[in-house]
Amino acid sequence: MNTLRETFLEELADIYDAEKQLIKALPKMVKAAENDQLREGFEEHLQQTEEHVRRVEQVFERFGEKAKAKRCKAMVGLLEEGQELIREKAGDAALICAAQKVEHYEIAAYGSLKSWAEFLDENEAAELLDETLEEEKETDQKLTEVAEDVVNEAGNQEEGQEENQKRKAA
Ligand code: FE
Ligand code: FE
Repeated sequence: MNTLRETFLEELADIYDAEKQLIKALPKMVKAAENDQLREGFEEHLQQTEEHVRRVEQVFERFGEKAKAKRCKAMVGLLEEGQELIREKAGDAALICAAQKVEHYEIAAYGSLKSWAEFLDENEAAELLDETLEEEKETDQKLTEVAEDVVNEAGNQEEGQEENQKRKAA
């Protein structure tokens, strides 16, 4: 069985790779987003994600380790689904759902990493991890808010189309 420190470093290597994958994927989300607020939100989160990568590197340093990446298969899958939605032109509501799945994955990872760092008495590392954790939570919250606007807009448009069809039919 792994020690908690080993488990921590393995999980840190996983999220390090996940964040790097996100830096490549977010510009595609920016391009695909139609809603201005959503596009700006993705742009802002791209900046934050670059900082998340740097923080993970700082956490490795605090542990006296060289930064190491381990292929995060979960993020590969989540981003593949996101790409598929972009190709299918599935729209902003679907994009937001894909983005929130990513945030929830990150929240789970950083939540565990933070509590393990605390347990290991690596308090500076725990603080760095907490900063990122809070940004992921805020991003998730903002996505929920944009989703409400996007869904309302889409709902209104669909109602309008139905009205038109009824009028034509009458
Ligand atoms: Fe992140
Ligand atoms: Fe994130």
